[in-house]
Amino acid sequence: MSMSITERVKQGLIASGGEVFAIGKSECGNAIMCAHKGNTRGRQIIVTAAIHARECYTALVVTEQAKAFIGKSGGAYFIPLVNPDGARFFESGETFGKNMLARNADKRYLWKANADGVDLNVNFDANWGGGKSNKLIAGASDYIGAYPLCAAESRALAAFTEAVSPAATISYHCMGGELYWEYGQDGKRRERDGMFAAKIAERIGVKKVDGHLFSAGGYKDFCVQKLGIPAVTVELIDSGSHPFFADAYARDIERNKFLIDYALDLLDDKE
Ligand SMILES: [Zn+2]
Repeated sequence: MSMSITERVKQGLIASGGEVFAIGKSECGNAIMCAHKGNTRGRQIIVTAAIHARECYTALVVTEQAKAFIGKSGGAYFIPLVNPDGARFFESGETFGKNMLARNADKRYLWKANADGVDLNVNFDANWGGGKSNKLIAGASDYIGAYPLCAAESRALAAFTEAVSPAATISYHCMGGELYWEYGQDGKRRERDGMFAAKIAERIGVKKVDGHLFSAGGYKDFCVQKLGIPAVTVELIDSGSHPFFADAYARDIERNKFLIDYALDLLDDKE
């Protein structure tokens, strides 16, 4: 019997040798696990994955990064599974007693949202509700929620990110083989963030896409707009169709494994 993604993430983080803790809990009370590795002083990077349920195996990219990370000059926080309830629904049909999930059992393989049908990556406080694909009804994807950070998961991640005050964030999604980074930066900040994005994209073999792209309320958007730091969204897997399972990420796991030490070095070069 195969292990659940929740269990694989927990074991992976423990195996990384980092300090393992929860940044908070999901709507259904599941821990949102994190491992910190490297120095607690110096520049920090936050790496997240699986904010979208159907992309939950992107978490394995991050657990492998955590194991490989050294952190000579700074540290990193690895948060592989931001949406543990959604991931379990996708993986096994678990509904946690939620009607939202029970009545959408047939949409399990398309599900991106949390257990209340809020799409966490449009629930952050950055032009909230202004996105091109935003929806006002709860469901599988794109529902912005009743107000910014109304969901336990996005609230926990936003609060944690503000507390850490990282030098950059990297977030994994699927699919497209692309990297997004731009959210209204100008001048020196645009130059800095564009450079960071270009180097990361080149390193892991994805295409850097410029422009605002009509997104709103995303974690990257929040990091760029509210924290003023470089933040990238990486869409793994070039093409295909959902659902994708763990095996589909094998190439991406290899390509991204040693990225975080490299990313920290890039940030150190800046000053
Ligand atoms: Zn996504």
